Amino acid sequence: MEEKEVVSKNFIELAIDKDLAEGVYDHVCTRFPPEPNGYLHIGHAKSILLNYGLSQEYNGEFHMRFDDTNPTKEKTEFVDSIKADIQWLGADWKDHLYYASDYFPQMYEAAVKLIKKGKAYVSDLSADEIREYRGTLTEPGKEDPYSTRSVEENLALFEDMKNGKFADGEKVLRARIDMASSNINMRDPVIYRVAHVSHHRTGDTWCIYPMYDFAHPIEDAIEGITHSICTLEFEDHRPLYDWVVRELEYPHPPKQIEFAKLYLTNVVTGKRYIKKLVENGIVDGWDDPRLVSIAALRRRGFTPEAIKMFVELVGVTKAQGSVEYPMLEYCIREDLKLKVKRMMAILDPVKLVIDNYPEDQVEYMDVANNQENPEMGTRKVPFTKELYIEREDFMEEPPKKYFRMFPGNEVRLMNAYYVTCTGVDKDENGNINCIHCTYDPETKGGNFAGRKVKGTIHWVSASRGINAEVRLYDNIVDEEKGVYNEDGSMNINPNSLTILKNCVLEPELANARPEDRFQFVRNGYFCVDNKDSKGNVLVFNRIVSLKSSFKLQK
Ligand code: ATP
Ligand code: MG
Repeated sequence: MEEKEVVSKNFIELAIDKDLAEGVYDHVCTRFPPEPNGYLHIGHAKSILLNYGLSQEYNGEFHMRFDDTNPTKEKTEFVDSIKADIQWLGADWKDHLYYASDYFPQMYEAAVKLIKKGKAYVSDLSADEIREYRGTLTEPGKEDPYSTRSVEENLALFEDMKNGKFADGEKVLRARIDMASSNINMRDPVIYRVAHVSHHRTGDTWCIYPMYDFAHPIEDAIEGITHSICTLEFEDHRPLYDWVVRELEYPHPPKQIEFAKLYLTNVVTGKRYIKKLVENGIVDGWDDPRLVSIAALRRRGFTPEAIKMFVELVGVTKAQGSVEYPMLEYCIREDLKLKVKRMMAILDPVKLVIDNYPEDQVEYMDVANNQENPEMGTRKVPFTKELYIEREDFMEEPPKKYFRMFPGNEVRLMNAYYVTCTGVDKDENGNINCIHCTYDPETKGGNFAGRKVKGTIHWVSASRGINAEVRLYDNIVDEEKGVYNEDGSMNINPNSLTILKNCVLEPELANARPEDRFQFVRNGYFCVDNKDSKGNVLVFNRIVSLKSSFKLQK
């Protein structure tokens, strides 16, 4: 009997339980707030599934919000990809789709409110001067010489900023907090800057844009977010977050909670670095199957279920760590194991001729679609005199313990017959271009009781099989050297992509559609490429091989 474990709650669930018990909130509302400056990656998937999962668990709401307050790097292409990726992951925002840029008027009003309260001022210091005045971890900052401007003067100047009277960088609005604070984020942070840049949604309506630390709490407060879950790098910003919601006197202040980012060991995970690989042409776009962007994982053949299993296995913690990629591979194998058909496909074909098999005969062998899941039924696979087998399943001079095909040896052709190798044909360079064998008609089906064979190899009919391209992937990073060098450059593995153009597959695979997944027996799990498979051109991506180095700790 399977025991159902009581899974212990993570620290965020405990914090939410406490808030609900103490009446701090009477419901839960979470959000996922990506900046549309790139595609989402596996780390974002963790954040999405965490936020969405909590909203489901507590019967609350989940908001999808584009944090588009920095127009220089944001693009509609990214907005569209992010929406598609989140939908694919299954996080349903229903009608709660928001854009931070829709709140620009409220943010402007919020800044005016701070000015009126004497809590914000316009400064003429340059970015460099502001940095200089800010002090260090060990030294307090110096007062900004413009901090003494009157409320009226600040209101007028801020309005002039909005009306385009100043060039980029000429003036900023700063919150008046504490230049001596031990937390540098609290030393009169800049909350608005001038930037004459077109925004992907608001066009040229604004030439001042709010800074993240000011905008984010306002976005959360406007939407009635209860728990604003973000990653650890924002921990030091939390006092500022709280300051903003307090000074703006929001009736139901949201709460920021931080957790550790998800990193994969020896894998390029950060958006900035993925972008670099894309922009430098090292990969073929954001959805190159070697990347761990969500679009790439999808194209490679990962399922939302596998990604969900993975983030659940990783768990939610405060401690920064790094997870091994084989754990993600374990999850996709587990997910596909009983779900997909197990087909025969020859990736590196060599011809096998059964000399005593009738010339034009075709037999249809009954093959289980998935030996571990009988509910998936069976199919008929054509067997003919000429077949293809994997080149590595034959050796002319085999080492000890090689049980596959070699002259004089009998092996099982999976689901078909026992055959005995009789010889090979070679070309003028000595390369084997054809293997000969004879079959024993008594052994049909491959489960012959009369005598045992040690090797079983798979095959595809030469006349009935179909051609396809298969792509095999390896880590884009040279794992021996690690991902990053000190100068921020990356160690690239030049052999991360292998293209096999002459693969031969069972004829039934002619019906495979983009994103269909299969096991190719002995070779791994594969997915029909959603970009390069068109019409009768079939391209398969290897998702993962069958062997695992990963052991689940229980
Ligand atoms: P990156 O660090 O890759 O550049 P980002 O944090 O700049 O990503 P955003 O679009 O700002 O990307 O992130 C949206 C949300 O996803 C944020 O709440 C952020 O904390 C979260 N997030 C980003 N990276 C990870 C990660 N590796 N693991 C978990 N959550 C992440
Ligand atoms: Mg960011």
